[in-house]
Amino acid sequence: MTHIESLTLSNQQHIPVLEPHVALLKLDVLCFGLSSLMAQRIPLTKRRRRDSDDAGSSPPKRDELAYKRGSPWLEDGNIILVAEGTAFRVLQSILSNSSEVFRDMFSVPQPTDAEKLDGVPVVQMPDSKRDLSRVLNALFDGGNLYLGQQPHFTTVCSLLRLGTKYQLAALRKDAADRLEKCFPKRLRHFNNSLSTVSSPPNLAGWIVDFANVPINIKFSDAIAVVHLAQECDLPYLLPTALFICSQLGPEKLAHGYRDRDGTLWKLAPRDLERCLLGTESLREIAQRQQAFVIQTILSPVCIAPQWCTTDLLTLRTQRLKDMKCVGGKNPLLDDGWIKSPDRGLCNRCKNWYAEHYGEQHREAWCSLATLFKVDKLVPVWPAPYTAEDLKIL
Ligand SMILES: [Zn+2]
Repeated sequence: MTHIESLTLSNQQHIPVLEPHVALLKLDVLCFGLSSLMAQRIPLTKRRRRDSDDAGSSPPKRDELAYKRGSPWLEDGNIILVAEGTAFRVLQSILSNSSEVFRDMFSVPQPTDAEKLDGVPVVQMPDSKRDLSRVLNALFDGGNLYLGQQPHFTTVCSLLRLGTKYQLAALRKDAADRLEKCFPKRLRHFNNSLSTVSSPPNLAGWIVDFANVPINIKFSDAIAVVHLAQECDLPYLLPTALFICSQLGPEKLAHGYRDRDGTLWKLAPRDLERCLLGTESLREIAQRQQAFVIQTILSPVCIAPQWCTTDLLTLRTQRLKDMKCVGGKNPLLDDGWIKSPDRGLCNRCKNWYAEHYGEQHREAWCSLATLFKVDKLVPVWPAPYTAEDLKIL
């Protein structure tokens, strides 16, 4: 396999439109296979020369090399990795200690005419320069680069993708743990990971953003997470990622979105079907959950029927004005809008409605894997609380 072919494959790996999903998975496997192939056969490819170069004559000058110097570039580095024409000079021992894949790659004896730059061996990599730079920077910062920080979602994507591909266990775990904080598998964590508007005039409000999560992430990134969860074997992210997708507008679902790196992420047809079918089920639960508003049902324990009827009628009118409110397809909103001091319901009604509402809320959460038809991928849902969770909560 030639250098140019490997670069071509590298570009294919980063096809911007990630559809169809199955093809992408196969491509990823292919690229992983390529890496192994390189490790076994041609870990050090011959350096490119200009056409005018006379092979075998005087050694080429540095400016004849097509590589751009990337970051990291360690002056005492003893291996140079090249991706998409950008070179990174690092320490082979750190790579070998961090990854079995790199260890195997470097254990293969190199041919005498292997490419070198300033006497340092050069390895052509089939990855994007952006992914490789982020991963190497994380590796060569002693693992502290993102400690206590909120890296951008695209950076976490790079760490997860290459962390999985090259078996960089620490980086993969860090990325997976961060994503789990955003797409948790336990209800109380989920409630803590989102911020909502729950007071009038927005009524039951919206889930408006992620909150208190260790990634700089937007709701639309859930589309990318649906892909990554399946490609990188993190299926437990799927129920909540698909739930967030279900709350996106039709434009994002139909056309996808472009992340900060310029990659267009779009749900694969099978995932889009899962999302749409799940949304219908969520809408049914939300309708049941809020039947007391729609049908103006007084609780059997009401002590102020006149006040409460008036407030329920006001709620219903508000809902009819803006069908998008009151969680039309979101039964996972908290009950703040019922318990609000501005709510003109008697306390007994508030508590009665909140209890009923909470039951449906829990039912919706427990059904997420089934509603989105990922229960075979995520057989244990909802995840039980651990002793540590209970201590924290
Ligand atoms: Zn009442």
